[in-house]
Amino acid sequence: AGTVIAVDGPAAAGKTTTCLALANTFGLRYLESGRTYRIIAFEALRREIPVDDTREITGLCDELLMESRTESLLTAERYASDKLRETPVNVAVSAVAKIAEVRQRVTGLIRLWAKTQAQCVVEGRDIGTAVFPAARVKFYLTASPEVRAMRRVRQERADSYENVLADVIRRDEADMNRAASPLVAAEDAIRIDTTRLTIDQVTSRMASACRN
Ligand code: C5P
Repeated sequence: AGTVIAVDGPAAAGKTTTCLALANTFGLRYLESGRTYRIIAFEALRREIPVDDTREITGLCDELLMESRTESLLTAERYASDKLRETPVNVAVSAVAKIAEVRQRVTGLIRLWAKTQAQCVVEGRDIGTAVFPAARVKFYLTASPEVRAMRRVRQERADSYENVLADVIRRDEADMNRAASPLVAAEDAIRIDTTRLTIDQVTSRMASACRN
């Protein structure tokens, strides 16, 4: 693989916004790995496949991989982002992401993609721990659940603060307590608590760490 910058952390900690800024500043390719888990969950719902059925979901995953020769599941633009962010997908994605066989396939896809990139920034939950344990720079972004929910509400305006907060807390718990690659900071990750920081402050801290 080329040079990888790994950015992990719980839902709505500011990963996407800061990763896009970093990618812009340094001319890096950017990959949002959560999108792939969301596409799998979205297709499971569409095809009415129970999301907790490991065998069925793994089969779906393989089918999607076969179908996606021309447009990788990682970068598929035919899935509208707002559809992937709807409540049913938010709920189903936690179950899908729990399945070790699914994680293994998505991890394989990400590694293959990164091999073709000179330098990239990859965001997710397990990038610095499981996908690229040897990444050149690793960040772990956090913020209080309340601040994360508030930011999400301001950004999307789609749902009430209470519902978004409940979803953030539920997804944190699911991500942190699953057996396969649970959400945890890599030992060598630079941890940034963004609760009292602006996006610009977070981005410039990250950028200066990348320059070193
Ligand atoms: O980042 P985003 O919130 O879009 O990710 C959606 C879901 O996908 C997360 O709640 C998490 O369960 C799962 N995910 C994961 N590992 C990753 C990225 C996302 O388990 N590397």
